[in-house]
Amino acid sequence: MRLARRVREITPSPTLGIDALAKQMVREGIDVISFSVGEPDFDTPEAVKEEGIRAIRAGFTKYTPASGIPELKEAICRKLKEENGLEYRPDQILVSAGAKHSLYNAFMALCEEGDEVILPAPYWVTYPEQIRLAGGRPVVIPLGPGEGFKLSPEALAAHLTPRTRLLVLNSPSNPAGAVYTRGELEALAEICVWHQIYVISDEVYEKLVYDGLEHVSIASLGADIKRLTVVVNGVSKAYAMTGWRIGYAAAEGEIIKAMSDLQGHCTSNPTSISQKAALAALNGPHEPVREMVAEFEKRRDYLVERLRCLRGFSVPLPRGAFYVFAGVGGLLGEAIGGRQVTDDNSLARILLEEGRVAVVPGSGFGSPGYLRFSYATSRERIREGMDRLEALLERS
Ligand code: PLP
Repeated sequence: MRLARRVREITPSPTLGIDALAKQMVREGIDVISFSVGEPDFDTPEAVKEEGIRAIRAGFTKYTPASGIPELKEAICRKLKEENGLEYRPDQILVSAGAKHSLYNAFMALCEEGDEVILPAPYWVTYPEQIRLAGGRPVVIPLGPGEGFKLSPEALAAHLTPRTRLLVLNSPSNPAGAVYTRGELEALAEICVWHQIYVISDEVYEKLVYDGLEHVSIASLGADIKRLTVVVNGVSKAYAMTGWRIGYAAAEGEIIKAMSDLQGHCTSNPTSISQKAALAALNGPHEPVREMVAEFEKRRDYLVERLRCLRGFSVPLPRGAFYVFAGVGGLLGEAIGGRQVTDDNSLARILLEEGRVAVVPGSGFGSPGYLRFSYATSRERIREGMDRLEALLERS
C-alpha cells in the first residue's frame, strides 16, 4: 500500500514502546507504578459534570456553530480579560476539540511550505509533528537546566533566518515545568515584533504554577506582540477535563477566521455537551482548581526531594505543570539490575522491567539524557515508586 508522504513521515512517539510494555505488564497482573501519565488524576469537578448531564437532558445534542457556542466564547473572553489582561472579542476566539486541535489549526493557518518554526527543546512531542504536517520545518533549539530550560533572546536571535515564520512558546512547559517570567517574555517579544515573527503560545498549564509565581501570557505585553500571537489554552489540565476535549485559541480576527474555516471542514464544532461543561468550568467555582494545585505542589516537593537522593540523578526544580525532568547522564555506561545503561531509552526500559516503575525517556521530547516523571499520581504511589527506584539503584 502506498500511503501519502505526509503520514508516512509522522514519527511514531518514542514513548509508545515503553508505554505499551508497561500496559502489557499491568495486563499480566504486575503492579507497575506509573510516572508517565499526562493528565491530572483528579476527577472533573462535580458541578461541571452536572452541567454536562443537564445539557444532554435538555437535548443540547445537535450541531453548534463550528467555531463554538457564543456563550462559551464570551466566557473565554471574560477569562482572558480578568486572568490574563487580554482583550479579545468573541469573533477572535475559536473553540476546538482540545488545545491540541487549536494548535493544529494554528500551524495550518500560519505555516507555508518550507517555513521555519523555532521550537525550543525539550518540547511537547506533538509540536514537531504538527509543524511538519503543516509543511513547516522545526528549528530545534536545545536548552538545558543552566538556563532553566528557557529560551534566551540571544539563542532566539541566533536561529533566525529569512524563512523564520513562527516561534512556539510553552509556559509552563511540558516536560520541564519551566515558567517564563515577564521580563524573559518581554525580551523574546521584542525580537518577535522586530522581525514580525508569529508566536504560538501554548498556555494549557497556566493554572499549575508553584512557589507563588505568576503566569504571564506573552500576548499581554503590548499591542504589537498581541497582534502576532495565537494564545492557546483549554480546560483539560486546569479542570481535570482531558476526556471532554475542549480547548481554545485567541488571536487576530483574520487568523481565527482562517482557523475556524479549516476546522469547519475538518471536524465542525467540538462536542456540544462538552462546550456546556467547559462553560460551567470557566464560570467556577474555582476552589477545586486551587485544591488540586496545592496538592500538586506538595507532590512536586516530595518527588524532587526523593529524586535528588538517587545516585546519578540531577534534578532541577520545576516551577509549573506536573512533571519533573531529571538528568540521568550520570548513569550512562553503568549497570543497573545487571543491565548496561546505554541511553535514556534503555534506562527507562530497565527501570520498568527491573524496578516496575514507568517513566518517559527524554529523547521523545528532543532532549536525550533525561527522564520525565509525572506526579499526576497519589503521594502513596509516588512514595512506593521512589522506594522501588532507590532499592534498584542501591543493589546495582
Ligand atoms: N499542550 C501541551 C504542552 C500538553 O502537554 C498537552 C497535553 O498533554 C496539550 C497541549 C493538549 O491538551 P488538550 O487535552 O487540551 O488537547
